[in-house]
Amino acid sequence: MKLKRAKAYKKLLHQYELNFGFREPYQVLIDSQILQDAYKFKIDLVARLEKVLGGKVKPMITTCDMRHLYAAKPKNETLILQAKEYERRRCNHQDLEEPLSTLECLSSVVDPKDSKTNKHRYVVASNEPSVRAHMRSIAGVPLIYITKSVVLMEPMANASEEQREREEKSKFKQGLKGQRNPGAGEKRKRNDEEEGQSIADGATGDARPSKQKRQKGPKGPNPLSVKKAKKETPAASPAKKAKSTIADEAQPSTTAATDTADAEASGPRKRKRKHKSKSDGANATGDDDGEVTAP
Ligand SMILES: [Zn+2]
Repeated sequence: MKLKRAKAYKKLLHQYELNFGFREPYQVLIDSQILQDAYKFKIDLVARLEKVLGGKVKPMITTCDMRHLYAAKPKNETLILQAKEYERRRCNHQDLEEPLSTLECLSSVVDPKDSKTNKHRYVVASNEPSVRAHMRSIAGVPLIYITKSVVLMEPMANASEEQREREEKSKFKQGLKGQRNPGAGEKRKRNDEEEGQSIADGATGDARPSKQKRQKGPKGPNPLSVKKAKKETPAASPAKKAKSTIADEAQPSTTAATDTADAEASGPRKRKRKHKSKSDGANATGDDDGEVTAP
C-alpha cells in the first residue's frame, strides 16, 4: 500500500474512532461479490483489510451472502470453506425460501430501524455499487471495495461527514458551557461589589472579557487622546492650507507629505508671529502715536 494512501486511511479511521466509536477488532461485513473478486485477483482479503484499516479485523458474513456463495454458478468450494471461517452474522432471513439480495440483507443488518445510523459499527466490504451507494446514506459506515486488484477504502461519505461536524459542534458548545459556568458567576459578583457601574455591562456580556476591557479602559484613553492630538493638527491645517496653497501647488502632493507636515507644524507659529508682529507693531505705533499725540 502506498504511503500516502496509508496515511489517509489512518486519518480516516481516526475520525471514525473519534466520531462514531469504532474500535478494534473492526467488524467487517464481507459480501459474496467482494469475496469472489478477491479470489479472482488472488487477494488475501482479510490480510488486506487489516492493512487498510490498520488494525485487527473480525470478518463476518451474513446468512444470505453465505447462501449466495452456495448458489454461485460455478460453485467455489474453497471460497465457501474460507467464508465458513468467518463469523456468521445471523440476519433472520434464513427461513426465507430464497436469500435476500446483498443490498436488502446488509441494509437490514447495518441499519435495522432505518434510522440512518450504524449502531453496531460495521465496516462494509462490498463490491456491489448499489450496496455502497446505500451505505453512504447511513452515517458512519466505512466502505471497502476492490478495484483492479487493489483494496480501497472510500472517503467519508457526506452523511458521515455531516454527522461528524454536528457532533463536533455540540462537543465544542458543551466544552464552552463547562468552562463558563464556574468562573463567570464569581467574577460578576466581584464586579458588582467593586463598582456599581458594572451591573449594566455584566448584564450585556460575559464577566471575564468585560472586566478585562474595563481594566484596560483607563489605560486606553491615553493612547486614544494621543491619536486625537495627531488628528487635531491636520484639522488645524485648513487655515494654513489657505496660506500655503502656493507652496502645495508648486510641489507634488506625494513627495511633499513630510514637508507639508513640517510646514504645517511651523506654519501656525509663523502666522501667529506675523499677526502678532503686525498687530503689535500697529498697536505699538498706534499707542505710541496716541501716547505721543496725547500729551
Ligand atoms: Zn440476510
